Amino acid sequence: LTSAEEDVIERIEDEDVDFLRLQFTDILGTVKNVSVPARQAEKAFTEGIYFDGSSIEGFVRIQESDMRLVPDPETFAILPWRRTEDSAAARMICDVYDTSTGEPFEGDPRYVLKQALERADDLGYTVSAAPEPEFFMFEEDEDGRATTETADHGGYFDLAPKDLASDVRRDIIYGLEDMGFEIEASHHEVARGQYEINFEYDDALATADNVGTFRTVVRAIAAEHDLHATFMPKPIPKINGSGMHTHLSLMTEDGENAFHDEDDEFNLSGTAHSFLAGILEHAPAITAVANPTVNSYKRLVPGYEAPVYVAWSDRNRSALIRKPAARVPAASRIELRSPDPSCNPYLAFAAMIHAGLDGIEQDLEAPDPVRENIYEFDEQKRQEYGIETLPSNLGEAVDALEADETVYEALGDHVAPKFVEAKRQEFEEYLVDVSEWELDRYLETF
Ligand code: GLN
Ligand code: MG
Ligand code: MG
Ligand code: MG
Repeated sequence: LTSAEEDVIERIEDEDVDFLRLQFTDILGTVKNVSVPARQAEKAFTEGIYFDGSSIEGFVRIQESDMRLVPDPETFAILPWRRTEDSAAARMICDVYDTSTGEPFEGDPRYVLKQALERADDLGYTVSAAPEPEFFMFEEDEDGRATTETADHGGYFDLAPKDLASDVRRDIIYGLEDMGFEIEASHHEVARGQYEINFEYDDALATADNVGTFRTVVRAIAAEHDLHATFMPKPIPKINGSGMHTHLSLMTEDGENAFHDEDDEFNLSGTAHSFLAGILEHAPAITAVANPTVNSYKRLVPGYEAPVYVAWSDRNRSALIRKPAARVPAASRIELRSPDPSCNPYLAFAAMIHAGLDGIEQDLEAPDPVRENIYEFDEQKRQEYGIETLPSNLGEAVDALEADETVYEALGDHVAPKFVEAKRQEFEEYLVDVSEWELDRYLETF
């Protein structure tokens, strides 16, 4: 065993852990887990734990269903909401291996992201990422089902004295901290019942792991208070939806921020400008991955602080990419504002990273930043500025993904076709459905 693995075994004994949840995610980003008695930890490290992958979304065909999970000891964490006086459950995030070849399984989203990080490494970089996940908390009805009634009526940065949700948020933060998160800030978002919790940036792989954990913890602790937390991008029409702005930067081998340049007007290096240009160039295809649900496109409309237009800015929030003010050189970064928290973070980060690296490899130049409110531009002004629009629905986004070699290939040979197939089917189902809105509008009129 490695020393990290030895440490895990020791903690299992010290903290009376009796069950281990071995976690991984499917293509859609849903966290799956296999629970094993904690005494199997050593075996899990040395041999892996076998499971049947045929029942996992997008993983494999039935006839080749045996998969092996190998836990990453760095991801060991006790589940705070499962702790009792003399027992505890812990989880570890796993890499998935194909039992027939012994190789990493190409359909594992974590592997897809690792491939993107390897490409960055070949160019001499590591990738730092930090997300800003937003979510709503809703009340449950008598049967315990989620409603869209919010538990509070606060607004952006409101400090409400008798705000049930702020107690829940405090418990969520304690839970996250228990699991090793460094929380930077937590606040009420613009919409009623909407919140944002920010955690410290990290290596992109650790951050993607953290996003999955974050969603699990938020839902579990909200549920303890009889609230339903949702990462659905736009649960209520005509008010802000939930985004997951993603901050990215590249670090060189000697730990310097490759995005920082003191002498540039925006403090962004040539590398940062090219990376940014790469993301702009591949933005429509990235959208399919970073905004992967039908509902995602109800958020990407003008007027609700979500991006619609492919442009960057050093100040306004209607642009797709923003250059946040950095207090210190190490904090120079770009913020992509399109992703939403329904995405699979491994795949979404992989798509963004490949797009940015493509910009660097092609030495692309970024256009000028747009400082005006682009929501107020008309078609003609947008054309004048050369500003494109993001796909307006999931179908268009999937078309853009299929047409973009860089982003399609970013997902790998196994995931790309499976993802496209699943999303096409989802969009088709939506197209043939007859919605509440249509019945309200037409049933009695015609
Ligand atoms: N909720 C907005 C979005 O959809 C962002 C609001 C904000 O963080 N300023 O992206
Ligand atoms: Mg924020
Ligand atoms: Mg926000
Ligand atoms: Mg932000």
